[in-house]
Amino acid sequence: MGYILTQYYTTKNPAYIENVVQSDYQTLDYGRRDSRYINFQKNGAQGLTLHSIGCAQPKAKPIADNFNKSTAQASVHAVLQSDGTVLQLCPWNYRMWHVGGSANNTHIGVEMCEPACIWYDANNGYKVHINDVPAATEYVRGTYRVAVELFADLCRQLKLDPLNDGVIISHSEAYKRGLGSNHGDPEHLWKALNLNYTMDTFRHAVDYYMRHGTHEEEEMRYNTLGDIKADKNNGKYYAPAIEKLLAKGLLTGKGGTGDETIIDLGEDAVRLLVVLARAGVFDKQDTPKVDIDYTKLGKAVAEEIFQRLSN
Ligand SMILES: [Zn+2]
Repeated sequence: MGYILTQYYTTKNPAYIENVVQSDYQTLDYGRRDSRYINFQKNGAQGLTLHSIGCAQPKAKPIADNFNKSTAQASVHAVLQSDGTVLQLCPWNYRMWHVGGSANNTHIGVEMCEPACIWYDANNGYKVHINDVPAATEYVRGTYRVAVELFADLCRQLKLDPLNDGVIISHSEAYKRGLGSNHGDPEHLWKALNLNYTMDTFRHAVDYYMRHGTHEEEEMRYNTLGDIKADKNNGKYYAPAIEKLLAKGLLTGKGGTGDETIIDLGEDAVRLLVVLARAGVFDKQDTPKVDIDYTKLGKAVAEEIFQRLSN
């Protein structure tokens, strides 16, 4: 978890240079002043755009170097790769040229690298082909995670709500909103790999990361008793204790019976219950009074357990 951000400014990029020129707007001739740059620099970004580079290039540096040319016709604020490397190519309050439309006036542009094991068929509408699906999947899961973390940090810094309409958009959404050129990134690659990623899952993941500091999928969650039994790694340790608690009525399900009993618990909570059960806490005859220092536990877990014990 955690990306590493390095400033690697593309000072030769024409958009970068224009920002430097416009930052001195008070000394510029009136006709030379461009309010699009001046406003972006004054007000900061109002949103973030997610891109995917559209070629088989897993490294951020070559992409950044391509943007760092006087002949470059596009520019972005940052490029990220699957292992957590993030290159920031300009100050966040610069107006860059990433989306080919008016979203450039309001939105930061972040480019995700793409796996080496894919290729685009130039003779067939740039259809993407995947040579190694597991490797490509692993790579793209990485860029998605890094993008979630970076966007969460940017939303916090810029005081943006990731779930507000139009705050986080993809390039393809910018096109559909009339704010950008006709591109399909980054969803084109998620679809090609049959990943269950959409811009909605992305926005929710950013929101979740801002509130919890973790990725939602990191914690194993068990919906039913059967899910615990089916857990190849830990089911055999967890299931007996949970069954015992259910049988004693100390843990009340949320419906269902037998293996279909709905327990709806995260793994943290289950582990803690198992530890307590092993300690014999639930074997006493009277209402269990558990001597736990709740301040030393995860607050959410402690509350969940406390609630269940006091039911
Ligand atoms: Zn794009």
